[in-house]
Amino acid sequence: MFSSVLSHRFETELGLTVTHCPSQDALDAALADAQHRFTMAVVGLNLPGSADGKALDQVIAHDIPAIVFTGTFNAEVRNRITARNVVDYVLKDNEFALDSLLASVRRAISNRRTRVLVVDDVVSARHALADLLEAQQFMVCQAGTGVEALDVLEKHPDIELVLTDHHMPDMDGYELTRRIRNRYSSDRMRVIGISSSGDRLLSASFLKAGASDFVYRPFVPEELQCRISHNVETLAQLKQLRAAAASDYLTGLYNRRYFYDQGPRIVTECLRGSRPASVAILDIDHFKRLNDTYGHEIGDRVLKAVASRLQHLFNGSDNLLSRVGGEEFSMLFAGMDSAAATELCDMVREDIQSLKVVAEEDEISVTVSIGVAEIGGYETFENYLNAADQYLYMAKNHGRNQVYSDARVVGIAAQ
Ligand code: GH3
Ligand code: MG
Ligand code: MG
Repeated sequence: MFSSVLSHRFETELGLTVTHCPSQDALDAALADAQHRFTMAVVGLNLPGSADGKALDQVIAHDIPAIVFTGTFNAEVRNRITARNVVDYVLKDNEFALDSLLASVRRAISNRRTRVLVVDDVVSARHALADLLEAQQFMVCQAGTGVEALDVLEKHPDIELVLTDHHMPDMDGYELTRRIRNRYSSDRMRVIGISSSGDRLLSASFLKAGASDFVYRPFVPEELQCRISHNVETLAQLKQLRAAAASDYLTGLYNRRYFYDQGPRIVTECLRGSRPASVAILDIDHFKRLNDTYGHEIGDRVLKAVASRLQHLFNGSDNLLSRVGGEEFSMLFAGMDSAAATELCDMVREDIQSLKVVAEEDEISVTVSIGVAEIGGYETFENYLNAADQYLYMAKNHGRNQVYSDARVVGIAAQ
């Protein structure tokens, strides 16, 4: 019962493929099958037809990271489990056991994408920490000095957590923490201080310098593991919040806030490198009519289809695309002058024109009008968007399903 509910939840909630081994024979068969590459094993200590703990030993011998669940727990069982460098152990003694197991597997999988830096001048201590982290599936970098640590951080911008010793020859952990905080904020990088110092004030100094946590040696491994997990989880939650705050709820594109936040930064980068930049506003033609004819729900479906087509068209480029509101989308083209952006927008316009959305018996298609303005760097970002809006207005006035821009208007005037 426990296993089948668990398998089902692994499959539906984590998208994993599960092989269930209810007996020692089934486990032998699964491990012997070369087709199987197991990402992880969730192992009970007592398997029918098997000696106590044999399944765990077997799984570890096959280099499969293991999470143990156990009904009986005492100091002896705990020592037996932890001596085997398991990812985690979960107690089966409560109603939340399934949730805990799921959370543990989810954490281990996400740890594989999380890079951690361990800083300690004592090689054995550093390696012991690295082993503990690797058992939890983290990607681990190491540094023997503070200077080296700063260098590794430069080279690996994906490092999210630093575990640092205090007493080190060139720069102590306290100073390293201060320098890290100078460059990296606590919503992107966590620092945990670890020291065998007898100075009870050291933890306070570390925390005041910007460390996220502090642990005195000797520590209980499970305690350090939990503190690490909490810090990594907090970062993941912050990342989720940032993504939600930047995204449009209907289409999943970036929203207006993100566009106005990041746009000026991208423009500044372009201008600094003497590269041109242009902005465009795209507006669906007669969208109100479409809503009135087919209803708001179909209108939403068309909006989503247009958004996903735009995303597809801009996929992989460093151009910025957002839904600024209603049926309007904005685009920032880095490195493109007005002529190039106009040409690209014409391609976009034609592409959208051939898009078909099925609604009941009908196939709906829409056209879009686009206004483009080149950014000269003399005015505010908003002003250039207003200019693009003016060109959009011209495109609407000249029959819609058109692209208007400074480049095009000059071209038309010359004819
Ligand atoms: P034009 O060609 O001049 O742009 O005409 P239009 O009808 O597209 O422009 P107008 O600004 O008059 O109408 C825009 C419509 O978009 C009005 C509004 O009901 C609809 N709209 C705005 N946001 C949403 C949305 O999230 N979902 C749906 N279904 N409709 C929306
Ligand atoms: Mg509009
Ligand atoms: Mg419109």
